[in-house]
Amino acid sequence: MKAVVAHELNKISVEDVTLDGPKAQEVRIKMAAVGVCHSDLSVINGTIPQPFPIVLGHEGAGVVEEVGEGVTHVAPGDHVIMSFVPNCGRCFHCVRGEAFLCAVPRGGKMLDGTARLKLGDTELAAMCSLGNMAEDVVCPSINVVKISKKVPLRAAALVGCGVTTGVGAALNTAKVEPGSTVAVFGCGGVGIATIQGARIAGAARIFAIDLSDEKLELAKQFGATDLLKADEAQATIMEATRRGVDYAFEAIGNAGVVEAAMNVTRRGGTTVAVGVGKFTDNVKVNALAFPLSGKTLCGCMFGSANPAHDFPRLLELYRGGKLDLEGMVTKTYTIDEAQAAFDDLEKGVNARGVISFE
Ligand SMILES: [Zn+2]
Ligand SMILES: [Zn+2]
Repeated sequence: MKAVVAHELNKISVEDVTLDGPKAQEVRIKMAAVGVCHSDLSVINGTIPQPFPIVLGHEGAGVVEEVGEGVTHVAPGDHVIMSFVPNCGRCFHCVRGEAFLCAVPRGGKMLDGTARLKLGDTELAAMCSLGNMAEDVVCPSINVVKISKKVPLRAAALVGCGVTTGVGAALNTAKVEPGSTVAVFGCGGVGIATIQGARIAGAARIFAIDLSDEKLELAKQFGATDLLKADEAQATIMEATRRGVDYAFEAIGNAGVVEAAMNVTRRGGTTVAVGVGKFTDNVKVNALAFPLSGKTLCGCMFGSANPAHDFPRLLELYRGGKLDLEGMVTKTYTIDEAQAAFDDLEKGVNARGVISFE
């Protein structure tokens, strides 16, 4: 079967690979669609360390083909989303309702330490234990969430990572209140999802900030009320709100932008760091001003979501016409066009590109 393999830093190609069947507590899935996410790029360029060679992809949906011993929550024929964060239900975090922090290691091989994927004689890792950029996937059952067959799988795929992260940042992490003011820095896939989350939560005013006019136009379609270029953001927001916004989100992964988001957050307000930046990039907070401001700065991992609960909830919002998933898929590629999909992502062409297998 075909799969997108990252062989080493900055070197990917579509290869004909082999896939072993599912062992105990594993599921084999025929892929329908996979989102092309910035985190895939970050694996390619080394920002997110994962072992090479590796099959990319961690934001997908498909149909269950086969289940291994002991798997009871899904069966062949079920439609599923694969969550890049597992949900073991037993670790410290899962037990206390923080499934987004599940302690089961993700990345590389299956939970028993072996690989199901091979290129010739070489074992391949699978990104987040998923490797969704392939025609078929074998992954741990704790990453698999059953969904309604009424939702198109191409739209559902985005829920495996970016949409849950962005919408969850607004609904779960920040708990945006109706009538509040919101600023979202960065209008890529996650930023657009954050804007949608703020809109769903009933925010009165949503400032979208980006460098690109095209992305700002896109932000408007999804509910942004004010479109700002980065250099004018602080002055305009402070003038419009007089005290700063109730909630500011950083959806890029840049320490300087997190600081800019904190600067436009009102006293007592909340700044949420959603984007994942470089290991060497540090956010500075002032030791005098920060405590006196009463602001909250919080990190947002996977939209503070519980996949088993939040995936169906997000799909209900979609079915109710409140969450636009189809509009986010601005371009569809075949697996052979994977390189073009990544080139477009780097250029910022799409809210979300999707590789479709259908
Ligand atoms: Zn992702
Ligand atoms: Zn867990």
